[in-house]
Amino acid sequence: MAPYAAEREVPLEGYSKEVTFPKLVAPQADDHKFRISWFNVFAFGYWHGSALYGLYLGITSASWPTIIYAFIMMELSVLGITAACHRLYAHKTFKVKLPLNIIMMILATFSGQYTVYNWVRDHRLHHKCSDTDGDPHNATRGFFFSHIGWILCEKHPEVKRRGVTIDMSDIKDNPVLAFQKKYAAIWFTMVNYVLPTYFPMYFWGETLSNAWHLNSFRFVMSLNIICLVNSAAHMWGNRPYDETIRPANNDLTIVLTLGEGFHNYHHAFPWDYRSAEFGNETFNFTTTFIHFFKWLGWAYDFKTVDREMILKRVARTGNGTHASVKEVGGKNDVKAN
Ligand SMILES: [Zn+2]
Ligand SMILES: [Zn+2]
Repeated sequence: MAPYAAEREVPLEGYSKEVTFPKLVAPQADDHKFRISWFNVFAFGYWHGSALYGLYLGITSASWPTIIYAFIMMELSVLGITAACHRLYAHKTFKVKLPLNIIMMILATFSGQYTVYNWVRDHRLHHKCSDTDGDPHNATRGFFFSHIGWILCEKHPEVKRRGVTIDMSDIKDNPVLAFQKKYAAIWFTMVNYVLPTYFPMYFWGETLSNAWHLNSFRFVMSLNIICLVNSAAHMWGNRPYDETIRPANNDLTIVLTLGEGFHNYHHAFPWDYRSAEFGNETFNFTTTFIHFFKWLGWAYDFKTVDREMILKRVARTGNGTHASVKEVGGKNDVKAN
């Protein structure tokens, strides 16, 4: 799911929005030689080194308020992707009023995964071309590439030429997201790095080194947690809804991403605001978070999937492990209601 600060706009020269492309059939990966983006290699190398030092400082010298603050910021960063970039902006699974639009954009900024515009374009392309060369983080290329390797090199030509065909009009028309895109460099520098570092220094006298490195730690942790959706959840897990695709329901990813790891369900029904079938939100805090704003009246027009449609899909393409299959004793016996 996620690019980062150093990512540039996909250049439009030579790529036309009018062209239609042949369908890529997953799993697919050609022998393209990727050019390494050394800027990103050094940037991500620095952030990961800084995060490791932050972990060390968290154990040895940071104050308890700083540690608790870093944890809360890490969870908010995860929500910035799961609730904001993913369920709200990329899939439009619900609508929000202006105050929540602003809050969601700020949370998305905490994630440090660059502009919502870039994130949404890559994610819509991911769904359109899953596990092929048109997918920015094509999991057919293995765990490392789909997790973070794709950010460390230039995009595959298929990603570039298909990326410009993605309809981004809703994102362009959103004034809050237009603001984030227009002032991206200064906005990300201030909101994701400077202010989160200054906060614990100002309010409880934390040292600059502790505050900076623990902020690096929470950013890098949230980044790697989100990247598990692209890597682990496209490789390992259960496929109750569609066994013909790579995305899987992955338990570790479900817990760490606050409910975003029901990835077999999500690729089968991407418009469901819960990103999961189950009504129980124990492992889907993102949905609970959204429900809070529904209660407040700032979130509305939720899209879901009715049970009949889910059961039909389970019967047609599932791997036979869905609870409804067990109830009736066999995949072919599943009834829609
Ligand atoms: Zn996916
Ligand atoms: Zn999605």
